[in-house]
Amino acid sequence: MSDDCLFCKITAGEIPATIVREDPTALAFEDVNPQAPLHVLVIPRRHIATLNDLTDADEALVGHLVGMARDIARERGLDSRGYRTVFNCNTDGGQTVFHIHLHLLGGRSLTWPPG
Ligand code: 5GP
Ligand code: ZN
Repeated sequence: MSDDCLFCKITAGEIPATIVREDPTALAFEDVNPQAPLHVLVIPRRHIATLNDLTDADEALVGHLVGMARDIARERGLDSRGYRTVFNCNTDGGQTVFHIHLHLLGGRSLTWPPG
């Protein structure tokens, strides 16, 4: 837990969020400023600031986050239609909250490339 981290506060229940799915390793909740009809953030409970801070020991953790996103997309009936998952990293990637989070976006046709 990092004391000044917004998403650590969400995992600790200190800041409210609409939880979509959770288990001992990860938490998925609705983005407060959704960019698509479905916009969920999947985060590890453990504080990891950016993708740069991942180690080889975190491979299973990252797979777990992706699996959780897949399950939510399937549950919402978006699996065949499609959806997008993205991790933003640091300034050029557009990261604003420094606790890694996998964006899951779906429910509309998304353009590529992103802005
Ligand atoms: P980033 O820009 O770091 O990739 O994404 C951060 C995301 O967190 C943004 O999409 C933003 O809307 C979302 N966000 C920021 N503050 C909060 C909050 O307090 N609660 C929730 N649920 N989402 C937040
Ligand atoms: Zn954190």
